[in-house]
Amino acid sequence: MSDKNTDKRHIAILGSTGSIGTQALEVLEANPDVFVLEVLTANSSADLLIEQALKFKPNCVVIGDESQFKKVQDALFDEGIKVYAGADSLAQVVQMEDIDIVLTALVGYAGLRPTLAAIEAGKHIALANKETLVVAGEIVTDLAQKKGVNIYPVDSEHSAIFQCLVGEFHNPIEKIYLTASGGPFRGQKREQLAAVTKAQALKHPNWDMGAKITIDSASMMNKGLEVIEAKWLFGLKNEQIDVIVHPQSIIHSIVQFEDGSMKAQMGLPDMKLPIQFALGYPNRLKSDFPRFNFLNYPQLTFEQADTETFRNLALAFEALHQGGNQPCILNAANEIAVDAFLKDRIGFLEMSDIIEQSMQRVSFIKKPNYDDYVATDAETRIVASQLIMNYE
Ligand code: NAD
Ligand code: MG
Repeated sequence: MSDKNTDKRHIAILGSTGSIGTQALEVLEANPDVFVLEVLTANSSADLLIEQALKFKPNCVVIGDESQFKKVQDALFDEGIKVYAGADSLAQVVQMEDIDIVLTALVGYAGLRPTLAAIEAGKHIALANKETLVVAGEIVTDLAQKKGVNIYPVDSEHSAIFQCLVGEFHNPIEKIYLTASGGPFRGQKREQLAAVTKAQALKHPNWDMGAKITIDSASMMNKGLEVIEAKWLFGLKNEQIDVIVHPQSIIHSIVQFEDGSMKAQMGLPDMKLPIQFALGYPNRLKSDFPRFNFLNYPQLTFEQADTETFRNLALAFEALHQGGNQPCILNAANEIAVDAFLKDRIGFLEMSDIIEQSMQRVSFIKKPNYDDYVATDAETRIVASQLIMNYE
């Protein structure tokens, strides 16, 4: 996957203005001999996109919000950087000949279409956008296999599993444990969660992330989405995936093999490491990321996840077991519920109510195709939005 002339990896970053996107740019900046940036994209943050493009000089950029196209184009015209706008362009630029790896660092269902387009064109995927695998994991992984495309996990837990599997490809996994920090409300009960505010939910103890995933972490939906993501990334049966709460976020996840041996990957919580491992695989690039000091962490602790309080995690397991389009329903209802919570339209616990009721109401499809997923996502958004109106 390297350029014949320069031997460098040519990267497209979808969602370059977000938390993962900006950290990925730091990784690229620190490794100019390894990576070349081809594409940057953003949804609406035009100013930051322009700033990034002027600094990194990609081949082209895409702004999702079409009303900002002219602003971006005017700013980049003199640099000869091509500018496009809209979701169709996103799905087209990922197919550009020069690209080796597409980093999917955009948030939500919007990641599905460009990811499929990139795989279709034979591009390897560094996957941060877990929603893509939650919505349509079977279609995405089947297509990747057919096209000989690798999907490198960026999510820290999945990167940990991937790192534990290096050199173990012929040894079957018995089970995996995805670690969860438990978020800002770990140890609290439902009565306490009823009144929590958006500001409290947006304060994650260990990670600094975009708003949607931060709320998902507080509600433990993030771990639920990650369970489904893991199933598809590593070809696991549902019963092979377990969750363990580990508040320090030092052990990023664990693989248990058939001889009973367990391998864990650990380090300080810093997304730059899994981003760099995904883009640089199989090489470990030298970094100056802060190193772990045992004396700062005299205890690493573990506890059972509380799925009665954090119902979203139970709902995600339910969707996993039902299969079909149920994870797609779970995801769409969650996106609508998180958005409503962030706009102060519903309370924290009501997010689970919306998701659960959406899962009951939207038509179940056992073997969905791509069009079924598109229809399910659209239907669920309508159903969940109507349910939210009842809470206002
Ligand atoms: P973020 O909100 O900080 O950034 C999202 C990026 O996607 C922005 O560049 C935004 O412009 C773009 N975007 C948003 N909606 C879009 C749309 N409809 N079309 C095109 N582009 C759009 O999010 P983030 O925290 O960087 O997370 C990105 C993805 O990575 C999510 O799927 C998240 O679950 C996953 N992830 C994030 C972290 C983390 O530490 N932030 C860790 C693991 C996984
Ligand atoms: Mg994660």
